[in-house]
Amino acid sequence: MKPFEKRIYLSSPTMHGDELTYMTEAYETNWMSTVGKNINEVERLICEKVGCRYAVALSCGTSALHLAVKLAGVKPGDLVFCTDMTFDATVNPVVYEGGIPVFIDTEYDSWNMDPAALEKAFELYPEVKVVVLANLYGTPAKMEEIIAICQKHGAVIIEDAAESLGATYKGQQTGTFGTYNAISFNGNKIITGSSGGMLLTDDLEAANKVRKWSTQSRENAPWYQHEEVGYNYRMSNVIAGVVRGQIPYLEEHIAQKKAIYMRYKEGLKDLPVSMNPYDADIMEPNFWLSCLLIHPEAMCRQVRSDSEACYIKEKGKSCPTEILETLAAYNAEGRPIWKPMHMQPLYRMHAFVTAEGNGRARTNAYIAGGGMDVGADIFHRGLCLPSDNKMTEEEQNKIIELIKSCF
Ligand SMILES: *Cc1c(COP(=O)(O)O)cnc(C)c1O
Repeated sequence: MKPFEKRIYLSSPTMHGDELTYMTEAYETNWMSTVGKNINEVERLICEKVGCRYAVALSCGTSALHLAVKLAGVKPGDLVFCTDMTFDATVNPVVYEGGIPVFIDTEYDSWNMDPAALEKAFELYPEVKVVVLANLYGTPAKMEEIIAICQKHGAVIIEDAAESLGATYKGQQTGTFGTYNAISFNGNKIITGSSGGMLLTDDLEAANKVRKWSTQSRENAPWYQHEEVGYNYRMSNVIAGVVRGQIPYLEEHIAQKKAIYMRYKEGLKDLPVSMNPYDADIMEPNFWLSCLLIHPEAMCRQVRSDSEACYIKEKGKSCPTEILETLAAYNAEGRPIWKPMHMQPLYRMHAFVTAEGNGRARTNAYIAGGGMDVGADIFHRGLCLPSDNKMTEEEQNKIIELIKSCF
């Protein structure tokens, strides 16, 4: 097989033309600012699509999460329960406010926060009042269980729906399960503004606070009057033009991503692997990224330091490193699973709670024959496959052949 002439991306922006129309409109009407029609429209359209009362357009998903953490009232020294296996943008905003993330282990059914581990965490730290919950790779977490636990303990949920825009759980869109919710229009997300994000909420007072904070916290006065710290977090009207052009294509992108997922599932069914799972009876993911998990008995030996990986090739077996290297050699882009936060040098000393409730972070060393927490195990055996919605069926078939060649 020859390498792909045109690189196959993990997930790249897919433009349709309307984006340029709305950007041009911003230019020609001279609303080259953080106010304008595109901003108003994207806020309206997202509320309509997601089914929330208020949407505030911001510079990125991370700024939305930051202001959500402020709204939730996190103060220096407060412990906050956080999804462990996720992008670090989920948890950094807790630290911006002086909060201390406590990481909650992952479950195997949706690769999200494990309700059993969350329950254990409340036993260990009953004072915790905020939970930051991400929906990984576009698959909703076990919302019902997690909401019930949070209600029981009087904790507020911040939902990080950056990866899951358009996904539903029991018919309800993600980005509406938390009291405060964040979505992202980063370049590799299911729809994009090149950058951008939004805070979603049903709470008018919260939405108003975010509008004020994100525009430098100006008070209502004839001059620049300030009573609280402000931020320059508002979305640009030009970026909003791109988002506005993309919103009508969300469903199309989801359908393309789902087709990619299903083709991988079918094409890889004879290998000792499974796809990132979801419960089809209660949820419909947006299939943002297709991921693969190698069965334990089919793993060749693989070790990872903080910056390098190596493995020993073995017939009939493989590992994420081998598959990623093979894809890269053929000009296709895969990616390891998000390395769990409790394994990151930045957060290694933070508390980490598993379903058994040991309450201590374990090391990131792979212990042969088990002994790993769920997040470390999925990181060890899993990887993200090229999931670009512009990838053709023919190109995907070649990716599937390349993966097969690794075993
Ligand atoms: C992309 C992403 C974010 C951050 O969004 P930005 O718009 O890039 O700031 C936060 N959380 C998760 C899980 C993400 O994937």
